[in-house]
Amino acid sequence: MTLTVTKLVRQYPGNPRPTLDGMSFDLPAGTLTALLGRSGAGKSTMLRCVMGLEPFERGAIDIDGVVVRGTLECSPAERKAALAAAREKLGLVFQSHELFPHLTALDNCTLAPMHVRKEARASAEKRARELLVQLGLEQRLDAFPEQLSGGQRQRVAIARALVMEPRVLLYDEPTSALDPSMKNEVVQVLKAVDARGVTQVVVTHDLQLAKAVEYVCVLDHGQVIESGAPGEVLANPAHESTRALLAAWHA
Ligand code: ADP
Repeated sequence: MTLTVTKLVRQYPGNPRPTLDGMSFDLPAGTLTALLGRSGAGKSTMLRCVMGLEPFERGAIDIDGVVVRGTLECSPAERKAALAAAREKLGLVFQSHELFPHLTALDNCTLAPMHVRKEARASAEKRARELLVQLGLEQRLDAFPEQLSGGQRQRVAIARALVMEPRVLLYDEPTSALDPSMKNEVVQVLKAVDARGVTQVVVTHDLQLAKAVEYVCVLDHGQVIESGAPGEVLANPAHESTRALLAAWHA
């Protein structure tokens, strides 16, 4: 298993109830999974906890063998070491892409390997080129972000995350800023990444995307209320909240 979340509890200070309330799920290596659920279900908090951007009090997240435990269940030093090890295995593609405007597509992708990993330019560029070509950007390697379409910028952002060779890649609402015609393109890109064996987790409100993934987890009140293949869960929802979500999508 590449990503296993066990009984995660996160309660924001001042909130009367936990936002994550014993959340558990288990994703085999190389799956493409969507986290679904109505607004306020806990999806973004879950994503931030996996990324180490948000503390959680109890439970554990196992990322390819590195286990990060809740703040009440391990020492600060243990937690710090686990987070540092986990960071090596994780990538995040932000909704807004956040490319450096003064760098070309290629240079956006080589920056982290060269400066964080101290990798030589030649080997970083080789991998970055390969990824950009695989994602259909062979003609745009030297383009600056403002010269690229929204979909192309997003593909550069995905290549930039993949160049660090993460085991788990997380996406925050990858289709929300795109017009409907671009959405299918995003699905194709996620499937191309899937073929590389990277475990991908996508937080989305997009039914088209949810239908195209391999596995869905539906969240409500900080727990996974149902999970499985989208063909089963979305075609035959067992839970009232999932039915409400589908009704809202079809409205
Ligand atoms: P989702 O992504 O599913 O919409 P979130 O994880 O963003 O859900 O938020 C779930 C709930 O957690 C919110 O309704 C809110 O009550 C609470 N919450 C989220 N972020 C914070 C925060 N920074 N401080 C306090 N409460 C928060």
